Amino acid sequence: MRHDHLITSKQLSRGDIETVLDRAAEIDEDPSAVADRYADTLLGLLFFEPSTRTKMSFETAMKRLGGDVVDMGSVESSSVKKGETLADTVRVIEGYADALVLRHPKQGAAQMASEFVDVPLLNAGDGAGHHPTQTLLDLYTIRENAGLEDLTIGIMGDLKYGRTVHSLAHALTNFDVHQHFISPESLQLPREVVYDLHQEQDGTQIREHESLEEILPSLDVLYVTRIQRERFPDENEYQKVAGEYQIDTDTLEAASDELTIMHPLPRVDEIAPEIDETDHAAYFDQAHNGVPVRMALLDLLLGGDDGGVRDD
Ligand code: ASP
Repeated sequence: MRHDHLITSKQLSRGDIETVLDRAAEIDEDPSAVADRYADTLLGLLFFEPSTRTKMSFETAMKRLGGDVVDMGSVESSSVKKGETLADTVRVIEGYADALVLRHPKQGAAQMASEFVDVPLLNAGDGAGHHPTQTLLDLYTIRENAGLEDLTIGIMGDLKYGRTVHSLAHALTNFDVHQHFISPESLQLPREVVYDLHQEQDGTQIREHESLEEILPSLDVLYVTRIQRERFPDENEYQKVAGEYQIDTDTLEAASDELTIMHPLPRVDEIAPEIDETDHAAYFDQAHNGVPVRMALLDLLLGGDDGGVRDD
């Protein structure tokens, strides 16, 4: 990998992605091989927005590599409350840690913060922008369940504000994948994302739909997302689309038996709990895959005992 900072999945080539996924598979197979590799390493966690999976899996990953974390804690209990700028906060915490993980409600915050630090900064979600480490675990899960070649995927829900969707869609253009985007008109992918996707991949591989029905039988993977209530400027607009898409066993009658259903979680009501017990459900494995994938990413960024791949 050629990057110190990981801000968007657009930075990742197919080779970069495969390097991380292959390393994650090795670690998944034998975590003990890397158990003490980073005994003196500290990862700084800066979460300005709620997080369960991303924060805990980064923490687990660093600890399973033998290192530890320093956590800014909640915004309420930090100097941010006293008016400290993000630039100052990251400059202070880089003095305590070997790498930083940042989640922030403002789109572009990770890019801006990365310009103030020398240690690697990983974007763990910037508003409705990007979430590239989620993408890596999504790709790992897709590769395990359906493969990344000759794949047809449906990505459904809040495509406008869903940062996991923006990152995943860009990364998938590195592979031979047909992407179908399913959403109400008001939650379609931002036009600039669609434009970029068309630049990055043959346009025939990108399609937008308002209904799942017409496309469901052809899908290998269905990636469902939560409507991002917290990003709506107007609660009434949220209420108009809330509950618009719900998957239950009746919905899946038209689906292939092999269909893999994914969700970055948390879910609200998009996937009925009855699906959890079916072979379609991959979303809890997907969340668990966050640990080996983030271990692999940290290993590659921090260097490993073979000199690593950090070359700029
Ligand atoms: N956990 C994911 C994120 O932080 C998805 C979500 O919140 O809906 O973007």
